[in-house]
Amino acid sequence: MSRPSLSFEFFPPKDLAGSFRLWDTVQSLAPLDPTFVSVTYGAGGTTRQLTHDAVETLTKQSGLRVAGHLTCVDATRDETLAIADNYAAAGVKDIVALRGDAPKNSAGFKASKEGFQDSIQLIEALSDTQKFNIHVGAYPEKHPEAVSQAADVAYLKRKFDAGATGAITQFFFEADTFFRFRDACAAAGITAPIIPGILPIENWNGVKRFAEQCGTHIPQVIADAFKNAQRDGTESLLATALAAELCDDLLGGGVEHLHFYTLNRGTLTRNVCHALGFTPERGLQNVA
Ligand code: FAD
Repeated sequence: MSRPSLSFEFFPPKDLAGSFRLWDTVQSLAPLDPTFVSVTYGAGGTTRQLTHDAVETLTKQSGLRVAGHLTCVDATRDETLAIADNYAAAGVKDIVALRGDAPKNSAGFKASKEGFQDSIQLIEALSDTQKFNIHVGAYPEKHPEAVSQAADVAYLKRKFDAGATGAITQFFFEADTFFRFRDACAAAGITAPIIPGILPIENWNGVKRFAEQCGTHIPQVIADAFKNAQRDGTESLLATALAAELCDDLLGGGVEHLHFYTLNRGTLTRNVCHALGFTPERGLQNVA
């Protein structure tokens, strides 16, 4: 089996300490030679400038291919496309295009009057620029707002018809969940790559909360194992083993690319990659 390609997701740092932590994370993961890394766009559009700065700095300083996330929240069409233009000017060729969520503590997504009304409109507009590979979100356990799995897959197909070139999934904990979803996508006529998103469990209590919000099922066996690991102080070991096992199952089922949600902490993701036998292939290439 040839080594799969890898990508790593980061969030933009809010302060100096966060910047150092992100840079440490990038340095620890860059030797694994990711195909790209991506930088999220804060919920509610809250990190617009920080995301842009992180994308630009990483592109210049790391030599890695960087994808900027972009959402439709709280901006007019012109403002959103100006952000995309700024990405392009910084040398960015990949965008993760999302509808996004409303800011915390407010009701669900509400499009701005002069903004993109949904992810499809954003994808179409980005596609018209012919400047980007457009990655989109996909939901193996269906998006919480979707009326059914079939409707969700049909909506994903519309995103590809609008110009998306690939999808990255929400995190999940069982390989079969991904395989069933991949089959459903294939049956719906989707041929573009669907990359599984892997969340190594750095903080069990946080992941439980996040999974509930996203509708991600946590198998009882994992919940039991973490209960024991918390008692024994072996959570990190368990997290490494679980994520490595999930990735191994995915690779065994023909997956060729793994996308890791790093939460700006490199050690766990790096340990998972090492456990899978992926060894460092390159150093950071400073192109500044
Ligand atoms: P969509 O796929 O456009 O909509 C979600 C679902 O709702 C659809 O799958 C569909 O079933 C249903 N739906 C929506 N509109 C319609 C319609 N008109 N008709 C019928 N059905 C419809 N959030 C951030 O704020 N910043 C980020 O950086 C970020 N990065 C992410 C990266 C990945 C890989 C993923 C999977 C998610 C990310 N998110 C991010 C979260 C994302 O913004 C939320 O999940 C949001 O609720 C949905 O965005 P989307 O583009 O996937 O939505």
